[in-house]
Amino acid sequence: MTTLRNIEFVTTVADTRALPPARGAEVAFVGRSNAGKSSAINALAQRKRMAFVSKTPGRTQHINFFRVGENRYLVDLPGYGYAAVPAAARAHWNVLIGGYVQTRTCLRGVVLIMDARRPLTELDRQLFKWLEPTGTPVHVLLSKSDKLSHSQAGATLRNVSAVLQSVYANSSVQLFSSTRKIGLVEAAAKVQHWLADGRNKKPPVKGE
Ligand code: GDP
Repeated sequence: MTTLRNIEFVTTVADTRALPPARGAEVAFVGRSNAGKSSAINALAQRKRMAFVSKTPGRTQHINFFRVGENRYLVDLPGYGYAAVPAAARAHWNVLIGGYVQTRTCLRGVVLIMDARRPLTELDRQLFKWLEPTGTPVHVLLSKSDKLSHSQAGATLRNVSAVLQSVYANSSVQLFSSTRKIGLVEAAAKVQHWLADGRNKKPPVKGE
């Protein structure tokens, strides 16, 4: 099994034409800015600051690649900004993320991080539209669930689960909290399953 602890930063790209060769298996992380994406990657990899490399100047609008095993990658997609984000940045995001998720042949699954207090934004729905033709599985983390009461969290999980079933069939959802370590084992198992699945489905090409 691919452990997510052996994580190392590999590269950052600002343009889909500059993506590294599609080889092995990738799991992409996406979500609205501030939803808790970096914290989730760090928690899954049991690192304190690994994914914050994506927040360094010049990299926030880039796709950042982290290796977790031989030809196994976690891919940190740029966070979608607030409503006030300039049109040019929005357009860049559309081209970069839309292009990546629709064409990346080694993409085995997408982890979509939603703030449990504000789930299913316009961005989230846009992602499902892009992914629809590919059928790529999506696993939703309802992050910061520690900020909800037990009953609120349960109700949110049920509501989002019901909406997801009608919006995107190949999806699953769970409660998550990086700070309280809620749902870490379940989320890590999903990511590892996708990474391993890639290995089974795509045996290495002879001579590779
Ligand atoms: P990103 O922009 O999506 O990468 O979000 P970050 O991971 O940087 O998190 C944004 C803010 O939310 C930071 O202040 C984090 O400390 C906080 N945060 C992230 N995850 C959690 C969580 O599970 N619980 C709580 N209470 N706060 C969180």
